[in-house]
Amino acid sequence: MLLDIKCSRCGEVKDITLFVPNKRCINGVEKTCRSCKQEVQNKYRQRKYLEVGHWPWATQLEKHKTYCRNWDAANINTKRAYTAHYRAKCKYATPIWADLNAIKQFYKHCPVGHHVDHIIPLNGELVSGLHILSNLQYLPAKDNLQKGNKFYADELRSYESADAGRSAATGY
Ligand SMILES: [Zn+2]
Repeated sequence: MLLDIKCSRCGEVKDITLFVPNKRCINGVEKTCRSCKQEVQNKYRQRKYLEVGHWPWATQLEKHKTYCRNWDAANINTKRAYTAHYRAKCKYATPIWADLNAIKQFYKHCPVGHHVDHIIPLNGELVSGLHILSNLQYLPAKDNLQKGNKFYADELRSYESADAGRSAATGY
């Protein structure tokens, strides 16, 4: 446990990683825990759905998608610069001992509807991970897009335990 915080909604004392980070709040996290926040949001959405009779966000999402497509078409060079930047970042984050072939294979065998994700993001706020096999995982596309550059201590723990398992298997 890094730091325990009491949720103002359910009253349970929980690990700080179970709260949404927010710089403007005391402790740097919001007052209600993630599951409470989710519950409130779900209730709000259900209420809205009953009011309007359809998902008001569906049209919004379509609009956003069209906007993105148009932006991509109009700014093809800027988009290329972004992807080049990402490639350069990967290259910079790739140590000479990285098994490039294994990484290539990992990308090649990515299941449909999944993205290859860096467990510790390449340009995280706190830490930056490496572009190596043990830092890659398959994530459903939706989860990956939600994750962005976020990285929580909880994930570090699971990463450590996964790494321990891996080194036990390989003997390093
Ligand atoms: Zn709670």
